[in-house]
Amino acid sequence: MTQDELSDFADALRRRRAADDDLSRILGLPVERWNLCELVTARALDVEVELSSVEWGQVGVFRSGPLAGSRVSVRFYSAMEPLRPTAPEPPCDHHVAILGPPDTRFPELIHGIYLFEVAWIFEEMERSGGLMAQVDEAWDAFKVFPGSFSPWKVIQSEARGLLYQVQDHAVRSAPPRHSADPENRYPGRSLLPFEKLAEKLVQSLAPPPRVTRARDAVQLEWKDERGTVVLITPEEIQTRIPRVEWLGPHEARSTSRLDSTMKVSQAQSREGFLEVLGRIRASVRKRLSLYRTCRLCGERFPPEYGCTRDTCDSCARKHLGVIH
Ligand SMILES: [Zn+2]
Repeated sequence: MTQDELSDFADALRRRRAADDDLSRILGLPVERWNLCELVTARALDVEVELSSVEWGQVGVFRSGPLAGSRVSVRFYSAMEPLRPTAPEPPCDHHVAILGPPDTRFPELIHGIYLFEVAWIFEEMERSGGLMAQVDEAWDAFKVFPGSFSPWKVIQSEARGLLYQVQDHAVRSAPPRHSADPENRYPGRSLLPFEKLAEKLVQSLAPPPRVTRARDAVQLEWKDERGTVVLITPEEIQTRIPRVEWLGPHEARSTSRLDSTMKVSQAQSREGFLEVLGRIRASVRKRLSLYRTCRLCGERFPPEYGCTRDTCDSCARKHLGVIH
């Protein structure tokens, strides 16, 4: 879908929703739109649909991406409905469950999209004594939209844009819940241990650090060049000493070097957490100990910027006529 088609689609969808609301009000009944969401999702996943049914949803084959060639069914679910992964012959390898918004009047809106291996669903059913797997917190691990906990990168960025336009407004406008994930890119009902730790650190540091979140890491930049960088991954906490590297006479880049590492599991006790705070302070002290005092203006300056060991850049320019 091109950008123009996308906008047209979103426009048409808005008009349709308004029209459907009118129809619902006049008829006093919800208007049937059961397959719209499925078709949009199938398009976003680049699935070639071969069969379309109320019972099984959209059944077809991934045309591209990491699961290209794999058979899949894409089905819309309202809350607490059991999964129906068993599309007819030939059986599917994967199942995509679209969870609708809690307000069931709007089945054209997407609350979440989850990708499962069908074999896994059957194993789960066996484990639970034949009960169909239901919408559950465990689903977060299979989420491919919005946010992505799933290892399968099946939705390309343009397609993600398309899905954002049909996203449940409640999800889209939800305020970020976690200070360790300011853009709310990895929402979940519960926090992983390293996320909890990052959260606690953000709340313990004043002034608040700058937080950058990637899937498997949270980076805290505290007090910029006069502070420290803390990198938290699922296994490890690193404290890092910021530095500036010169790539050329006028081109500097902020980097950092490793100062200490500690296991996330060790940092979970009260003592462990205090130890992390101690290491952060130690890294800041180390960074500040590298600063020098200018003999001309008396200011402290970072080691990367001095013209000589005892003259800062601006004094060198002003008083010594140094030109870089
Ligand atoms: Zn100076």
